[in-house]
Amino acid sequence: MSESRVGLGIDVHRLVQGRPLILGGVAVPFERGLLGHSDADVLVHAVCDALLGAAGLGDIGVHYPDTDERFRGISSLLLLEDIVRKVQGSGHEVVNVDVTMLAERPKLAPHFPAMRANLARVLQIGETCVSLKATTTETLGAVGRGEGIAAWAVCLIREAAGCRDT
Ligand code: MG
Repeated sequence: MSESRVGLGIDVHRLVQGRPLILGGVAVPFERGLLGHSDADVLVHAVCDALLGAAGLGDIGVHYPDTDERFRGISSLLLLEDIVRKVQGSGHEVVNVDVTMLAERPKLAPHFPAMRANLARVLQIGETCVSLKATTTETLGAVGRGEGIAAWAVCLIREAAGCRDT
């Protein structure tokens, strides 16, 4: 029987002046951007951790430490691409991902189509299998004060077709 496995990924990054805001590989026009060693793409990082979690392969910090200069400023989509290879190497394929971003501003929904296309391409799944959502926190907490953006992702992976015995 085909085995399915679920994974959860959560990430938070601080919003600062002088950085571009990259989410799902898309440059979102905004007066501040997310701080981080890579491009700080909080959406992609949450998806990375969800995939690694599903495959039982640890987390993004283990594979791409922020002490490693090779990853400075890197597009997080490249990290996700590498993780997809690791997931495939474990004999699995991605079924779907569902993401909720928490951000007081800016409005993210207009950028969902471009983000979804990027994620679907890298995950090698159809765009209908990439769900993106966003919510504010009604001005509550650090996200509500606009200090950062958070993302939660869940994903499902299953044994790749060639590995199934039924
Ligand atoms: Mg991160």
